[in-house]
Amino acid sequence: MAKEFDVCVIGSGPGGYAAAIRASQLGFKTSIIEKKDLGGVCLNIGCIPTKALLKSAEVFEYITHAGDHGIVVDNYKTDFPKIIKRSRGVANKMSKGIEFLMKANKIEVIRGKGVFDSAKELKVVDDNGKETNRVKAKHFIIATGARTRELPHIKIDGKTVIGSTEAMTMDEQPKNMVIMGAGAIGIEFAYFYHTIGTEVTIVELQKHILPVEDEDVSKELQKIYKKKGMNILTESSVEKVEKKGKKVIVTVKGPKGNQEIETDVVLSAVGVTGNIEDIGLEKIGVKTDRDSIVVDKKTYKTDVDGVYAIGDVIGAPWLAHKATHEGINLVEQLAGHHPGEIDYEGIPGCTYCQPQVASVGYTEKAAKDAGYEIKVGKFPFAASGKASAIGHNEGFVKVIFDAKYGEWLGCHIIGAEATELIAEAVAARKLETTAQEIIKSVHPHPTLSEAVMEAAAEAYYEGIHLGTQPPKK
Ligand SMILES: Cc1cc2nc3c(=O)[nH]c(=O)nc-3n(C[C@H](O)[C@H](O)[C@H](O)COP(=O)(O)OP(=O)(O)OC[C@H]3O[C@@H](n4cnc5c(N)ncnc54)[C@H](O)[C@@H]3O)c2cc1C
Repeated sequence: MAKEFDVCVIGSGPGGYAAAIRASQLGFKTSIIEKKDLGGVCLNIGCIPTKALLKSAEVFEYITHAGDHGIVVDNYKTDFPKIIKRSRGVANKMSKGIEFLMKANKIEVIRGKGVFDSAKELKVVDDNGKETNRVKAKHFIIATGARTRELPHIKIDGKTVIGSTEAMTMDEQPKNMVIMGAGAIGIEFAYFYHTIGTEVTIVELQKHILPVEDEDVSKELQKIYKKKGMNILTESSVEKVEKKGKKVIVTVKGPKGNQEIETDVVLSAVGVTGNIEDIGLEKIGVKTDRDSIVVDKKTYKTDVDGVYAIGDVIGAPWLAHKATHEGINLVEQLAGHHPGEIDYEGIPGCTYCQPQVASVGYTEKAAKDAGYEIKVGKFPFAASGKASAIGHNEGFVKVIFDAKYGEWLGCHIIGAEATELIAEAVAARKLETTAQEIIKSVHPHPTLSEAVMEAAAEAYYEGIHLGTQPPKK
């Protein structure tokens, strides 16, 4: 006999588990179905374990520069298996935390793969395809996430060509690595492996690394990474990967023709693809487009009554916080609340390499393309007292305002703690704060956050520590 619920969530990533918790808070009898580990990609093989790895690399980099701070550290080296073990420990602890949250919120966790039998009933099967449970629900929320995209001519075999999961769980540190794709995931692994001593080559199809960021930011990071010694091949693509003994020969096509690179391993970081297969979507008539489920982006309804979808499985941006907010927004609507639409322009994107990169809203180009007349302010961390004091004065804050009303259109940060600093711009944009309100908000001194205020002031020629003058008429 089928178990009956008000809400059944399929997939326990940051979209699914947040939706389930909010549903339970709002009085829905709720269940969640998970075929692997609670917490999904984010907690187990995504956001959290990568941030743990990046912290290890950062600590190593700190020690490398200890002498600059008058501290002598002799005989330091990395212990790769221990770095991986620490990261796995952090991920496991977080996953256990979700188990606790499910219990605390009286959410029934059903282990196994959820497959629709009808729009009102789902079967749960084990790894051998044997049915272990049946679930009926008034509302089904599909939150099955996404996985690493595979290029048709470069198959991921888990050894010579790997995806992000293998890259964070390797037994041995590779001597060299070719990374295909310079988006956030590719760049984070590039920073991690390069910092701990792997020779890294990045191959990116676009003109710059982190191509979705404001061009000034992408160029700055590219300059810093080239200086650090990474081999960066832009406007280039991996054409072929061939095994040669224990090595791999990678053929890269670039603006000046083809070149061959010998490496230990190739990391494929060319994006993700939605988990839409084997859930019975075709059977119940849920529409998909390429590799995502099609939903109304306000109500998260699929075209089948009572079936909704959120998170990575409905497409870009593939971010944990976007998935979480979609889950919460949807469930609040189911409860008859009016949470308002999610502002997709207001979702921040972060890359946790060093220096960090974070942004929200329009890039300069996008703002111009959208027809805005803009004011741009830029403040380098080299002019920030705090940045100098902590020894991180690379990068800048760039802000973009609408010239007419002072609306904050975009904020782009490259530098220390950029991923924390961006929250000011996120909240301010949500509150429709103007440039003058930011300039007149008293920021604490000395902090990196002053750079945001100073960048805003620069846009209006009111900056104190840089003090750009208006162009002479
Ligand atoms: C290496 C890496 C680093 C990342 N770093 C960041 C970051 O720093 N910040 C950020 O915002 N995002 C980051 N992301 C992206 C982030 O992990 C995803 O955006 C987020 O996990 C999406 O959440 P979700 O709930 O949609 O799905 P997921 O987290 O993918 O969870 C889906 C869950 O559904 C389960 N599932 C699938 N099908 C079924 C089924 N039929 N039945 C039962 N269960 C099923 C899966 O096992 C999985 O647990 C990173 C991703 C990767 C790969």
